Amino acid sequence: MKAEIIAVGTELLLGQIVNTNAQFLSQRLATLGIDVYFQTVVGDNAARLREAIRVASGRADLVLFTGGLGPTQDDLTKETLADLLGRKIDIHGPSMAKIEALFASRGMPMVESNRKQAFMLEGSEPLPNETGLAIGDALTVEHTHYMLLPGPPREMRPMFDGPGVQWLTPRLDVRRPIYSRLLRFAGIGESNLEAALLELIDGQSDPTIAPYAKEGEVALRISTKADDEAEALARIDRTVDAIKERVGEFIYAQDDIAIEEAVVRLLRNSMRTMAAAESLSGGLLAELTTSIPGSSSEFLGSVVVYTNAMKHKLLGIPMAQLEGAGAPGAVSESTAIMMAERIRDIAGSDFGVALTGVAGPSESEGKPVGLVYLAIAQSGHQTEVFTLHLEGGRESIRLRAVKAAFYRLWL
Ligand code: ATP
Ligand code: MG
Repeated sequence: MKAEIIAVGTELLLGQIVNTNAQFLSQRLATLGIDVYFQTVVGDNAARLREAIRVASGRADLVLFTGGLGPTQDDLTKETLADLLGRKIDIHGPSMAKIEALFASRGMPMVESNRKQAFMLEGSEPLPNETGLAIGDALTVEHTHYMLLPGPPREMRPMFDGPGVQWLTPRLDVRRPIYSRLLRFAGIGESNLEAALLELIDGQSDPTIAPYAKEGEVALRISTKADDEAEALARIDRTVDAIKERVGEFIYAQDDIAIEEAVVRLLRNSMRTMAAAESLSGGLLAELTTSIPGSSSEFLGSVVVYTNAMKHKLLGIPMAQLEGAGAPGAVSESTAIMMAERIRDIAGSDFGVALTGVAGPSESEGKPVGLVYLAIAQSGHQTEVFTLHLEGGRESIRLRAVKAAFYRLWL
């Protein structure tokens, strides 16, 4: 790995201070086995800093900055890098809170420019500052690693030695292959999953466990780098076992398939079929299922019964069930059950699935947005019905309702 250090500060160019940061970092990088090919010094000037970053990005794998993270006008390292990389600037919440608390404890109003010290580039990792206010920042863009450190040595040194080295270590040897496995989850939201695994995610850095949300579902990628494949896979297996201990019931696949595809495969293997009656999802369940090639042997069809009249005409649900004084209403357990059983009987399928609920933006029948009833009728079994309270906007409620239906079918 080839590194370049960019020290930012007009004081350095004027000879008012000595560039001890570059010396410190060069020594540290040498012990980490990283070759420093260039040390650059540039003044507090956006255009020249930009030029220096452009040159460094073209010849280094790792670009380390010191200086220019402070609150004043001439501190512009983060802004300039963000601008050059086309990244937005986010505010790091915990750092902002720390800055505000400090001003509050001194009984002073916070000058707006102090917010800059909580800036971080979109998609970057904050590097906490234990001895000062300005947070550091690290990110990788197109194979180039960038690390931004503060100017004052008493802040820069502990930041580099602690969070800086920690961030750098897994990125050190690009030649070591990465091994990873994807776990796909259904029936659990991203925040609940993260909460259940918090201790595990925080407590381990290898393999890394990275959660991400994907089309109404959640996935975890477990990755590690190792020279030895067997060792890497064994490490991943141990992590997967630890995850399964905590949230195993929500894992439906260990490769990259969506829940609807997992369900279609399951039906295929057991030679069974399904049909659906959709109200709030407006055909989305059918859309997701029929996008899987060859699903016509398992998925017989779906009716969209959006209005009460259609629920009555197509599925024969009594109007007295749907509306009028004392009627359970279209959004109710009993309507969901009837829809599921009728569509199963009409289609002659093994499973009948029904979704009825309130996708929003406003309530319906006096029932809140996000309330959804999901029923699954299976021949020879008691029909199951589930009450869901879904969060999010209209599109997300519809998608989550459909994903929940697939999850229950998969179970
Ligand atoms: P601040 O919060 O203090 O503004 P900063 O990250 O914006 O920090 P600068 O404003 O560039 O950093 O520098 C602040 C001080 O840090 C300088 O006055 C100097 O004392 C020290 N410093 C900056 N760069 C270096 C360097 N390359 N080597 C040694 N000391 C440095
Ligand atoms: Mg400064």
